[in-house]
Amino acid sequence: MTKQKEEFKPLRDDEIRMYVCGPTVYDYTHLGHARTYIAFDVIRRYLEHKGYTVLMVMNFTDIDDKIIRRANETGEDPKELAEKFLKYFLEDMKALKVKPADIYPRVTEHIQDIIEFVRKLEEKGYAYGSSDGVYFEVRKYEKYGKLSKVNLEDLRKGVRVEPGEGKKNPEDFALWKKAKPGEPKWESPWGEGRPGWHIECSTMSTKYLGESFDIHGGGNDLIFPHHENEIAQTEACTGKEWVKYWFHTGFVMVSGEKMSKSLGNFVTIRELLQRYSPEVIRFFVLQKHYRSPLDYTEEGIQHAKNNLERLYNTIENIRIAMEKVEVPFKWEKEEFELYETIRDAKKKLYEAMDDDFNTAEAMKPIFEVANAVNAYLTKVEKPKESVLRKALEFFRIISEVFGIFEEYFKEAKETKEEELIELLIEVRSALRKQKNFELADKIRAQLRELGIQLEDTPQGTIWKRINV
Ligand code: AMP
Ligand code: ZN
Repeated sequence: MTKQKEEFKPLRDDEIRMYVCGPTVYDYTHLGHARTYIAFDVIRRYLEHKGYTVLMVMNFTDIDDKIIRRANETGEDPKELAEKFLKYFLEDMKALKVKPADIYPRVTEHIQDIIEFVRKLEEKGYAYGSSDGVYFEVRKYEKYGKLSKVNLEDLRKGVRVEPGEGKKNPEDFALWKKAKPGEPKWESPWGEGRPGWHIECSTMSTKYLGESFDIHGGGNDLIFPHHENEIAQTEACTGKEWVKYWFHTGFVMVSGEKMSKSLGNFVTIRELLQRYSPEVIRFFVLQKHYRSPLDYTEEGIQHAKNNLERLYNTIENIRIAMEKVEVPFKWEKEEFELYETIRDAKKKLYEAMDDDFNTAEAMKPIFEVANAVNAYLTKVEKPKESVLRKALEFFRIISEVFGIFEEYFKEAKETKEEELIELLIEVRSALRKQKNFELADKIRAQLRELGIQLEDTPQGTIWKRINV
């Protein structure tokens, strides 16, 4: 809002509430979307790493003009089309190891809340009905333009009221749109129709996060008009300052242009995942600060891949070395050197991340530690466990915050074991369906002997570890 870095002071001491504008689900997720959602994932991960409890909400725009248009083109039902791409989006985010939001409110499930919100705006004199819907009267909200710095007079000159639009002023925007024949629609005090785009975020964010919260974000293209309009509606309605800090991500660019559906210059996450691992995509994205533009090139991703492999190698080297380490009765100069490099790198990492989540700057100490570890292992015949542990701990922090190196830090044995138990549960329930209770019971009994108790609950069979 102030167009400069601000000291971050959350509204509540140890909790941060954040809202990120989610996708309009009518097509596959591309790298541009992924960049934005990975950026917010790392912001969230870092805040959690620092000990905050984060409550994160992300909406799904599952009804809007673009969805209706696409559905008309393909002959699908708009609801089914949105459902399909919503599911794909969640799959893509999971593949990219983006932690899920706590709440994913969808427009079509909050129509009543939206109607209530519009009604309040009407009562307060900010909204008016017209032949084709309900509009927000921008000039009534004095602070319009405070985020994007648009000037209302300039804005008026730049836009026209299109034929068929029932708004009074060119700058006004729709809160509710009357349905045209054949379009999806809901009952409302202003006739059958659907919400305008911006109102969903005002309604659903305040419903779940309260009238004021800490962080709101999205890509740069949302600053105007989307976020400007969201602010106008919400603050007009509540009379309070709505959002404390705004975060906007830079675009993924292809040959100087924004990666977008409309330009056709996009690469989908699904395509990319066939060629690169999710961690390579994350690493590529995080090599730039979230506010900077990010050029998509094959060489760029390849470069990220090579760098990431170097780091994997280092972690692997540490692991191998740790199998034959010496009990650290003494530390020599080499151990102190490595220790100091790690200590300083950790400080630099936190300084970079504390400085507006500067992941680009945070990369430098990562490579410093990797280089120092490799040099240490080459030089020292009998490495000391204690100092290698410090290096591993450093990489574990990176893993947690950046969402990379996961393979090295999850308890591989445990997850395999868990997968095997799940498999046995499936087999057992198939056996029960076939009325083969004898074998089903045998599975249960033998698992019990191994310290795994199965319990049949309304949500299905669950398992617990027990002390036998
Ligand atoms: P949309 O589904 O178009 O509303 O986009 C979902 C989110 O992705 C929004 O926050 C957009 O700003 C963001 N986004 C779309 N294209 C790009 C891009 N090329 N680079 C970065 N973010 C993007
Ligand atoms: Zn929004």
